[in-house]
Amino acid sequence: MSLHVPFDNSYARLPDGFFVRQNPTPVKAPRLIAFNRDLADLLGIDGADDTMLARILSGNALPEGAEPLAQLYAGHQFGAFNPQLGDGRALLLGEVVGTDGIRRDIQLKGSGRTPFSRMGDGRAWLGPVLREYVVSEAMHALGVPTTRALAAVRTGEEVIRERPLPGAVLTRVAQSHIRVGTFQVFSSRRDDAALRQLYDYTVARHDPDAGDPHALLDAVIARQAALVAHWMSFGFIHGVMNTDNCTLSGETIDYGPCAFMDAYAPDTVFSSIDRMGRYGYAAQADIIVWNMAQLATALVPLCEDVDAAIERFTDQVHAMPDLIRAAWLTRFAAKLGIDVPRPEDAALIADLLDLMQAGGSDFTNTFRALANGSARDEIADRDGYDAWHATWQARIGASPEATEIMARANPVFIPRNHQIERMIDAAIEGNDAPFHRLNAVLATPFDDQPDAADLRRPPTRAERVTATFCGT
Ligand code: AMP
Ligand code: MG
Repeated sequence: MSLHVPFDNSYARLPDGFFVRQNPTPVKAPRLIAFNRDLADLLGIDGADDTMLARILSGNALPEGAEPLAQLYAGHQFGAFNPQLGDGRALLLGEVVGTDGIRRDIQLKGSGRTPFSRMGDGRAWLGPVLREYVVSEAMHALGVPTTRALAAVRTGEEVIRERPLPGAVLTRVAQSHIRVGTFQVFSSRRDDAALRQLYDYTVARHDPDAGDPHALLDAVIARQAALVAHWMSFGFIHGVMNTDNCTLSGETIDYGPCAFMDAYAPDTVFSSIDRMGRYGYAAQADIIVWNMAQLATALVPLCEDVDAAIERFTDQVHAMPDLIRAAWLTRFAAKLGIDVPRPEDAALIADLLDLMQAGGSDFTNTFRALANGSARDEIADRDGYDAWHATWQARIGASPEATEIMARANPVFIPRNHQIERMIDAAIEGNDAPFHRLNAVLATPFDDQPDAADLRRPPTRAERVTATFCGT
């Protein structure tokens, strides 16, 4: 039985300069690793047995209504502007409007070369595909806006990286793949007509109430400020916040060298290529402002009075740090059981974080332990903790809701990096059980799951992963 996908492809109706039509390159022996039934239901996708799913989701067959294309975009990579990037190993198959009324892209990642591949092979290996599957679905379960994973398929081919590795294709679902870099490509070329079309398209798709470019920027700034604060509240480090990996929708995208922090240290960096710490844990709150300044710059040609527009864009970007601080305060106050934060709660949070940093406490486990009174065991400085605890108790008083607020803000389970590496090692050997187990446990990250106690444990010194690599 074939796969029924109710395509309605709006991006493919944009003019030619927005993309290049390109079919996926077939693979040797596609084999399904996972298909996300819940997500498929949301998208209104049905039909097909595993063999047909593997053929379609590897790019060997196209579902009816698909109009595959590689999207054009540009981007600042580690601060340096690259005037043309584009989908070099991904193809948009088309869009569907889900049962929730939301339009989403369906994209194959690792589906072969495109005109934007440059020196790359257009492929992905199994490791980054499974990492993105697990982490993006875990983020969704944590409540963080994110692209999602519909499927992962082995290709039956090898890809050459530092060594030959099994190839795979991920099917990614996103509210759109419009990036800051999509605006930059047309703006930097001074293709005002295309920029206007992209703007109109984006407003219609994401912010139909936005009356002008300033309103669009404010909407994106609000989403990105909330997103980065949300990431930080779970110890998430994106790792490669280039402007081409920064969406207008406010969804987390591109899980290349991402990782969750174990021991709390604000300067934590995992990405092997991030030698300056540009995208370290705490730096994320600054760099997102820089990215929004790039979006603002790209929007300038849409405005008639350029000087006035620049002045207003500047004010908008300068207002963002306060939005991030407010979002951060709300998220971290909730982690302490505080529903409605007060300005002075920032110091209460900072004091706990200082204690955690001094003793290398596990970020996730320490916050989770607050509710059941065992956080003291997680902090090296016991006297310091006792003093902090007294202040905290005085603040939350006998609030009966505090425990519940904390239970919703402090997960038991995050996708720990050493577990992801173990899962990938097993999958390379053909054992997908750890992958399926991680997905199952991380689907309800706020629930105590006694059978999965091993997945709560921070890495031992030997297990510690200090570097993660891009999916290239
Ligand atoms: P990323 O680091 O995944 O955000 O990718 C940055 C750029 O490199 C994008 O234009 C990608 O399409 C491109 N790229 C990454 N890996 C490959 C690959 N294996 N083959 C072709 N292009 C790639
Ligand atoms: Mg990218």
